[in-house]
Amino acid sequence: MRFRSDMTVELVKASAADSDVLWAARVSTQGEQSLDEAGADPARSGGLINFLMRDRHGSPFEHSTMTFLVSAPIFVFREFMRHRVWSYNEESGRYRKLEPVFYVPGPDRKLVQEGKPGKYVFVSGTEEQHKTAEETVRRSCEASYAAYLEMLDAGIAREVARSVLPVGIYSSMYATCNARALMHFLSLRTKHEEATFPSFPQREIEMVAEKMEAYFAELMPLTYAAWEANGRVAP
Ligand SMILES: Cc1cc2nc3c(=O)[nH]c(=O)nc-3n(C[C@H](O)[C@H](O)[C@H](O)COP(=O)(O)OP(=O)(O)OC[C@H]3O[C@@H](n4cnc5c(N)ncnc54)[C@H](O)[C@@H]3O)c2cc1C
Repeated sequence: MRFRSDMTVELVKASAADSDVLWAARVSTQGEQSLDEAGADPARSGGLINFLMRDRHGSPFEHSTMTFLVSAPIFVFREFMRHRVWSYNEESGRYRKLEPVFYVPGPDRKLVQEGKPGKYVFVSGTEEQHKTAEETVRRSCEASYAAYLEMLDAGIAREVARSVLPVGIYSSMYATCNARALMHFLSLRTKHEEATFPSFPQREIEMVAEKMEAYFAELMPLTYAAWEANGRVAP
């Protein structure tokens, strides 16, 4: 049995640069010559990207793609896969035996919700509450995994035996998106003071989103800066 509190995100493939946005946008005025201009005059390029972002001309941001390998609990993937304009492939609980790797909230995970729905905040919780959460998660996962193994040993198919496993079990998937879809995802799955439309995501999917955001900022710095400057609203 292995217990983890972290999420991992690896960028496995990217065709993503600010210049993709520029050649895609400039084709409207320059036709096929727009590619030659892609790297020219960075200051003007930043201005164009900012204009596209501000006025929500989103399609030029769809030509940059990123593929991530994500390892996270199934409850995070359930939220993730609501984002329909991404492409996904996930490991199968029908075709392979699932490994006993489970999520347990780490010491910095705020455990207690206070306030009304829509206005609540999370606070850390007492040491006792942390101890209860950790011990209960461990005990419950151990019992579930033992039941899973018992069924497999009895010759019951994986697809049936998995029904006793909790949503805290880790899974892995490849997730591919374009920059526009990523900005939309980040706007909903991160909490940010400066956002025009603040969101209140579950912390665990936010941990995944934060890692993706760091890759995005590195690959497409002008686009990232324009998105931030325009209230983190996807164009
Ligand atoms: C904080 C938070 C709490 C949430 N709570 C709940 C909850 O309690 N219950 C629940 O069920 N969901 C919940 N969700 C999920 C939420 O309702 C969305 O399904 C999810 O955020 C994906 O957003 P999206 O549809 O904009 O994204 P995507 O599916 O990636 O779509 C991107 C954009 O494409 C367009 N689009 C895609 N498909 C269609 C379509 N069929 N018709 C028209 N336009 C389309 C829309 O403009 C959409 O914004 C929550 C999300 C967040 C961030």
